[in-house]
Amino acid sequence: MKKIVVLGSTGSIGTQTLDVVRNNSDMEVVALAAGSNIKLLEEQIREFRPRMVCVFDEKKAKELRILVSDCDVTITSGMEGLIECSVTPEADVVLTAIVGMIGIQPTIAAIKAKKDIALANKETLVTAGHIIMPLAGEYNVKILPVDSEHSAIFQALNGENYNRISRILLTASGGPFRGMTTKQLEKVGLEDALKHPNWSMGRKITIDSATMVNKGLEVIEAKWLFGVEFNQIEVVVQPKSIIHSMVEFVDGGVIAQLGTPDMKLPIQYALTYPDRRGLGGERLDFTTLSSISFEAPDLDTFRGLSLAYEVGKMGGSMPTVFNAANERAVAKFLNREISFLEIYEIIEDAIQWHRKVDNPSVDAILEIEAQTYERIESRFHV
Ligand code: NAD
Ligand code: MG
Repeated sequence: MKKIVVLGSTGSIGTQTLDVVRNNSDMEVVALAAGSNIKLLEEQIREFRPRMVCVFDEKKAKELRILVSDCDVTITSGMEGLIECSVTPEADVVLTAIVGMIGIQPTIAAIKAKKDIALANKETLVTAGHIIMPLAGEYNVKILPVDSEHSAIFQALNGENYNRISRILLTASGGPFRGMTTKQLEKVGLEDALKHPNWSMGRKITIDSATMVNKGLEVIEAKWLFGVEFNQIEVVVQPKSIIHSMVEFVDGGVIAQLGTPDMKLPIQYALTYPDRRGLGGERLDFTTLSSISFEAPDLDTFRGLSLAYEVGKMGGSMPTVFNAANERAVAKFLNREISFLEIYEIIEDAIQWHRKVDNPSVDAILEIEAQTYERIESRFHV
């Protein structure tokens, strides 16, 4: 039996993870965590019988305790509860599908408890990769990528020597606004940004895909996962999301992973690695596919990607500021408080304002996150 903890079980990745568990009789859920959706959590508790569940919102946790009083489950709340779920003694692997930097502490706790990490929560690696990767080495736990591009790279690297990587070719769909000019982007609204051409995902990552901040976060994520330099990571736009990413080796050979856009494959692969299992769903038909097209990303218009390279190369606390500013800006955009292009302005202002700290500790990262939020709020209350 593979015993799994799912952090973020009510979200896009979380519910697809539970679909995978449903289809594999040797997988079992031992703990779940989510923000506030107790209706769905109740259903998940009744179906999967986890031992422990965390609802981040304390008030909702109280309500859930009443709803499931007939079940043998402990309901916790807050960061303490999240950490308690992450270290559930019988768990083998923690799948991190929470959105945002809130995932840092539970991920670190899980590693210290010797749990493998199936990592979807890229913001954690972007801001604390310098802590998480060495820690995983120290505790001898695996960090298994769930993000589709990183799973593709991981699959391409199967059996290969990582020292023989020449370049990582990270593919991007370009998002719903691909081909637009800055002038055109002035007029786009929330509904336009929420329409991703190929993937159905949570709201925050969908906006990140429209700004190309998502691809920027993925560049930094790839640096930490595969131990490459930023000048070895190239983003290639491949609008239909058929090639999920590629690796070029020192001899010029390129290995790619292809498939229909379905997150269940990378989720399942992270849970069955190094084995593969059958999986339903559509298959690529190369006779009708006819062509796969490529283009270079527009770095001037979609500054999310160029800014990520910039902060990534600077290192230290800069990726934390980039990520925190983006998290707050996206929340404001989702709340219709700012325009699409103001997301870039908020990130750029935060990057200029911040004084870099080298090798920040977890406490420093969280402190810088809070300071970045304050800085952004001060812009809006003058
Ligand atoms: P989502 O918004 O659909 O779900 C987020 C989940 O996190 C929900 O269950 C929510 O309740 C939970 N959550 C939020 N705040 C919480 C808190 N404070 N405590 C506990 N739980 C909390 O998001 P998603 O699209 O599933 O994305 C999750 C992560 O996976 C993100 O980091 C995203 O970048 C990454 N990712 C997602 C996809 C995708 O296809 N959706 C692909 C690649 C990577
Ligand atoms: Mg991705």
